[in-house]
Amino acid sequence: MNFDSLGLAPELLRAVREQGYETPTPVQAQAIPILLQGRDLMAGAQTGTGKTAAFALPLLQRLASYANTSASPARHPIRALILTPTRELAMQVEESFRTYGKYIPLRSTTIFGGVNINAQIKALRNGVEILVATPGRLLDHQQQGNLRFDQLEILVLDEADRMLDMGFIRDIRKILALLPSKRQNILCSATFGGEIRTLAASLLNNPASVDVAARNAPTELVQHLVHPVDRDKKRALLSHLVRSKHMEQVLVFTRTKHGANKLSEQLEKDGISSTAIHGNKSQPQRIKALADFKGGNVRVLVATDIAARGLDISQLPYVVNYELHMWLRTTCTALAARAVPAWKARPSAWSASMK
Ligand code: AMP
Repeated sequence: MNFDSLGLAPELLRAVREQGYETPTPVQAQAIPILLQGRDLMAGAQTGTGKTAAFALPLLQRLASYANTSASPARHPIRALILTPTRELAMQVEESFRTYGKYIPLRSTTIFGGVNINAQIKALRNGVEILVATPGRLLDHQQQGNLRFDQLEILVLDEADRMLDMGFIRDIRKILALLPSKRQNILCSATFGGEIRTLAASLLNNPASVDVAARNAPTELVQHLVHPVDRDKKRALLSHLVRSKHMEQVLVFTRTKHGANKLSEQLEKDGISSTAIHGNKSQPQRIKALADFKGGNVRVLVATDIAARGLDISQLPYVVNYELHMWLRTTCTALAARAVPAWKARPSAWSASMK
């Protein structure tokens, strides 16, 4: 199986080739032909499976006939809406649209909370075909009259299970009520519990389904190590491991925002560059922290699970679960570290497995 056999346009194949992708991942191989037909889809896939390209490539192809370089906003109505649970995921998804849509003049933008709204209003006024948004800020814009969905053709709910976990169901229902009823719907979720099924039943019209959720089974892809340690020596052990094992890019999960800040400060005192990412940080701070980490300027990124879920950091070599005792329920505390060998394994898979 290769990308050429999926029925994708040359402009998309070129962009994919430039990314160095050689073969479609399973979710791509299965989902792309279905979505190109315009069918609704329920995709059981988590971050790390290549799910973003699985919906972004066919979506770009279906909208390619509208691509134009006119400056007129009227020529760039919203055609596709992608809802994501977090700001970071929204940014990543939109970046993917830019990457894969490099040779197709369709516009995309993100709207999410925590940053000044004016730049977003300007982008919306200029016109944009592909809008990637978190639910709350989308509704703010709707209330301000900044959005029109009458030309919308495609809706994607990305990490739908996470959106429900985060209490977005009412917002999602409000948003659905704003959209034209004739449209293509794509629902991505790593899990399919009762609430997701109810949502899927009301949202999807005769959907196809693909399920690759198990692909990321962390046990197959990563090496797990557990270091039993007294609670008060945990931080010293972490510093020691980072130094002695020459760990250059380490994502550490903590349970609380306060714990994340404190650990990051302590690591800095130990001479290890570190930054924290969690829900209390402003959006620009979160963006900077992630960029510093991805760019190699910061060695240890300490994150709460909510902030880190769905982050796609390529070749992430180490993930440490600093509060493993939460689920081990043993009397000693423990640090777990593991190497992530390839693009296939992502922190979301890891953290999910540790709950
Ligand atoms: P996602 O699951 O969409 O977050 O994608 C995870 C990572 O896989 C991203 O870094 C993509 O750039 C990468 N990726 C997606 N599709 C492929 C592919 N067919 N071959 C290699 N890497 C891919």
